[in-house]
Amino acid sequence: MIVVVGAGLIGLSIAYELSKRNADVRVIEAREPGRAASWAGAGMLAPYTENVVPSAFEDLCVAALHAYPSFARELQACSGVDAHLRLDGIVEAAFDRDQAARLDAHVAALEVRSVPARRLTRDEVRALEPALGPSVVSGAFTPSEGAVDNRRLGRALHAACLARGVRIDERAGEIAIEADTRRVLGVRTSNGFVPARAVVNAAGAWAGMLAGVPDHARVAVVPSKGQMLALAMPRGLVCHVMWAPGAYLVPRDDGRLLVGATVEDAGFDVRVTARGLGTLLDAALSALPALGNLAVAETWAGIRPGTPDGLPYLGESSLSGYVVATGHYRNGILLAPVTAQAIADILEGRSRPDLAPFSPQRAEGRPAAGLPRAAESEETYAAIAKESA
Ligand SMILES: Cc1cc2nc3c(=O)[nH]c(=O)nc-3n(C[C@H](O)[C@H](O)[C@H](O)COP(=O)(O)OP(=O)(O)OC[C@H]3O[C@@H](n4cnc5c(N)ncnc54)[C@H](O)[C@@H]3O)c2cc1C
Repeated sequence: MIVVVGAGLIGLSIAYELSKRNADVRVIEAREPGRAASWAGAGMLAPYTENVVPSAFEDLCVAALHAYPSFARELQACSGVDAHLRLDGIVEAAFDRDQAARLDAHVAALEVRSVPARRLTRDEVRALEPALGPSVVSGAFTPSEGAVDNRRLGRALHAACLARGVRIDERAGEIAIEADTRRVLGVRTSNGFVPARAVVNAAGAWAGMLAGVPDHARVAVVPSKGQMLALAMPRGLVCHVMWAPGAYLVPRDDGRLLVGATVEDAGFDVRVTARGLGTLLDAALSALPALGNLAVAETWAGIRPGTPDGLPYLGESSLSGYVVATGHYRNGILLAPVTAQAIADILEGRSRPDLAPFSPQRAEGRPAAGLPRAAESEETYAAIAKESA
């Protein structure tokens, strides 16, 4: 038996992949599947626009982008849920000479690496997105990027896991790993002990606090708060995912336009604040004044799982059988399909030298200073539960 702790997009993707490989897998979720960061995110699939520098990490992000069409198609076939994948490009807009020069340099750097990207003149960027304000100077377009509706993707993965016979224990309450000095033995829940040959920690921003993990195998996960809002948009007002200085915009097929996101060092606080919304709306309205009359449909906040060095943890820890899959920070939705393959390969004993930079063992036993207390984390969940009620 393999137990996956946490039913966000990462845990559910891993469980789904393991089930396809005929593993006996069970997911244990403390609260509700797919309702934490995986629900709060914007769903952008944007390794180039996110400015990931050329590295093993960028290779992983690009592999994930390429994996998405078959991942979404297969999940739809298995679950009946369309995750609304749209890879029709991301538009970035510049509003002064410095921003234009930065976009030019960004496109030039992508072209050198044969990544599809092009500069847009003022007329071209306004032709692509007519709602852009008159002060736009130029733009950039990366045609292979896009977005997925991460809330739908969570539902698709949940249904696909159930369809494949994966057992998902929800609201499992207090959960602790049990281990002897050498290896993991299983997971203790309020309903009893679940023996396991391997346990995958996919508990997102909470992964560093999982009870029962011996100190030598514990890694620090740094919470990063993100606030967002959605506007009710007339169909077609904004067509592409757009980046403007200070905010990004993500059109959904259901008529909402997401505006995101703050990046805040605020522990596990998920309050939506006046300053957070004000900052996002200022940036969005200065780029697209036409958004000013739209109704605010929804506001929310979530907690990204960050790491001290900015790289995810993907792989085996120094405790035999204990595997970590978290720390995806701003790219966890993008990285879900490749994370699932990576962790399933590791659990099958396949060699994956490409994953060496992401080994959790690089960070074991060095919890970050100022890690939040568990009590703060419980308050976060109370707030999330209230918002989603
Ligand atoms: C505002 C915002 C915008 C974002 N935008 C994007 C984007 O555009 N593109 C992108 O790729 N990424 C984006 N992200 C990042 C992405 O959402 C995350 O990296 C990703 O969702 C992490 O998934 P996860 O499954 O690791 O964590 P989560 O979705 O947080 O899931 C972790 C799960 O573990 C459970 N859990 C916690 N502790 C325990 C325990 N002890 N026992 C059992 N279960 C436990 C939790 O209840 C939760 O369900 C964004 C994030 C935010 C907040």
